[in-house]
Amino acid sequence: MAATTHTVTNQAPPLVGYDAYSGDRALSEGVERHLADAPPALSAEVRDELTSLGRATGSEQAQLWGVQANAHPPELRTHDRYGNRIDEVEFHPAWHRLLGHAVTSGLTDAWGRPAGHLRRAAGFFLWSQAESGHGCPVSMTHAAVPALRTDPALAAEWEPRLTSHVYEEGLRPPGQKAGVLFGMGMTEKQGGSDVRANTTVAKPLDASGEYLLTGHKWFCSAPMSDGFLVLAQAPGGLSCFLVPRVLADGTRNVFAIQRLKDKLGNKSNASSEVEFDGTWGQRVGEEGRGVRTIIEMVAATRLDCVIGSASLMRQALTQAVHHAEHRSAFGSRLIEQPLMRNVLADLALESEAATVLTLRLAAAYDAGTEQERAFLRLAVPAAKYWVTKRCTPMVAEALECLGGNGYVEESGLPRLLRESPLNSIWEGSGNVQALDVLRALQREPQALNAFLQEVGLARGADHRLDSAVKDLLTDLADLEGIEARARRVVERMALVLQGSLLVRWAPAEVADAFCASRLGGDWGAAFGTLPHSLGLGAVVERARIAG
Ligand SMILES: Cc1cc2nc3c(=O)[nH]c(=O)nc-3n(C[C@H](O)[C@H](O)[C@H](O)COP(=O)(O)OP(=O)(O)OC[C@H]3O[C@@H](n4cnc5c(N)ncnc54)[C@H](O)[C@@H]3O)c2cc1C
Repeated sequence: MAATTHTVTNQAPPLVGYDAYSGDRALSEGVERHLADAPPALSAEVRDELTSLGRATGSEQAQLWGVQANAHPPELRTHDRYGNRIDEVEFHPAWHRLLGHAVTSGLTDAWGRPAGHLRRAAGFFLWSQAESGHGCPVSMTHAAVPALRTDPALAAEWEPRLTSHVYEEGLRPPGQKAGVLFGMGMTEKQGGSDVRANTTVAKPLDASGEYLLTGHKWFCSAPMSDGFLVLAQAPGGLSCFLVPRVLADGTRNVFAIQRLKDKLGNKSNASSEVEFDGTWGQRVGEEGRGVRTIIEMVAATRLDCVIGSASLMRQALTQAVHHAEHRSAFGSRLIEQPLMRNVLADLALESEAATVLTLRLAAAYDAGTEQERAFLRLAVPAAKYWVTKRCTPMVAEALECLGGNGYVEESGLPRLLRESPLNSIWEGSGNVQALDVLRALQREPQALNAFLQEVGLARGADHRLDSAVKDLLTDLADLEGIEARARRVVERMALVLQGSLLVRWAPAEVADAFCASRLGGDWGAAFGTLPHSLGLGAVVERARIAG
């Protein structure tokens, strides 16, 4: 009797051993498109690199590391057995495997390699699908480079270690390490978005740019990192400082970790509260220009928030489609049932729109022209606002596709859902992004020109896109109450940008369904409300992991 009751039928098989790169048509086609003019050897190198990362992402091993790193969160060790302060964080070995694989795969190395940002963005998109939490130090280490470049001597010293493909855990004098990690300390108790409210004080030691810092940071993630870019008030105003954990002579810098945050998700990653008391720091950039210096880092981490959300969406979609392919209800597979197909197609549109935008932004970083920089000035905060906002409802709907299984931890969907709101909060929350777009619109007219030129490349191809661009221009021309309307304006900007990219590059069914729903208004408030006349079957088929 026991044998029959324990026969398992109609459950999806585990989704392991797949290639998350080649199997993802939107991603792999997008990468190829941006490499169309690259030398064949470079295209082949990037393809090999991403295929290898794609296979690692879909492996049983990586999935196990993801589970373990979150089931055994980091622990703070403030003191050693003798009572000396050590302020170290202990991680499960799986965390080190995940982070180590990211670093050795070049995910902190975008700034000097050909197509560096494109391959890194695609790689970050892939490997974050295995586990998101370790992406935080990967992102901050990668992003510290442009901020450090404001001081050529510091950049010469630190950049090779930040971009090296060597992962070395543990605190040692930086000169003895081939690879290092960086974090950032801006947010204080009394002010996060408003960093000018920072009260941490930096006292100059001499004229050589060395200072002693006293104060606190309310959020400081990845506190096991080797160095941090920190904001503090110097005599000349808010300034940026490089604060190493270990000083050149091998002694520990003062970096008192008070506690680790108990967070909604992002469990594998340590986020701490830190106090400085005569902590040694080297100034980066001029006194009083701290925000201008650290904004170089923040711009790069904001792009990573977009990539991270696109990655969460893709992993949620992959799981939802896989389940619907293998689960039957009321006589046929879920994926064949018209209403489930509508839901999956709608999720697939959201995912592909996020993916295509992510790759376009990364390619603009690689191009590095004035025109592309102007485009990024608006496109990054608009994408950070919109893609990260779409992530939570999208992942929640994907979870529901798995029915009750989706609500159970073993499915992995609850972890994705808990992670989802974070990219919208850190590196500047939704309103802060929307206001940043307004600032760029008001102060940098070349940014709007570049944005409109990009969107204009699809002019005439879809009447709903053309009308949406016209409506956006009307919106932008009306300055009455623009601050209160900022979210609506930025949403429109992101949608016309996504629409224009899909119209140019995606299969006709995808572009058509996106424009009909997101731009043409033929859509409900929940996912799964696309007009039934669209080619939904083709959209879902494209979202299946190929191969
Ligand atoms: C898990 C985690 C890890 C983090 N790690 C780090 C880290 O390593 N280093 C670091 O420096 N920080 C870190 N942060 C902090 C994070 O960047 C801030 O929490 C975030 O920028 C928001 O700042 P705040 O919390 O002070 O909120 P506030 O600035 O108080 O904002 C609260 C709300 O008000 C809105 N708001 C703010 N200004 C305006 C305005 N003018 N008009 C309308 N609305 C407005 C915001 O959008 C937000 O919704 C981390 C946060 C989290 C959750």
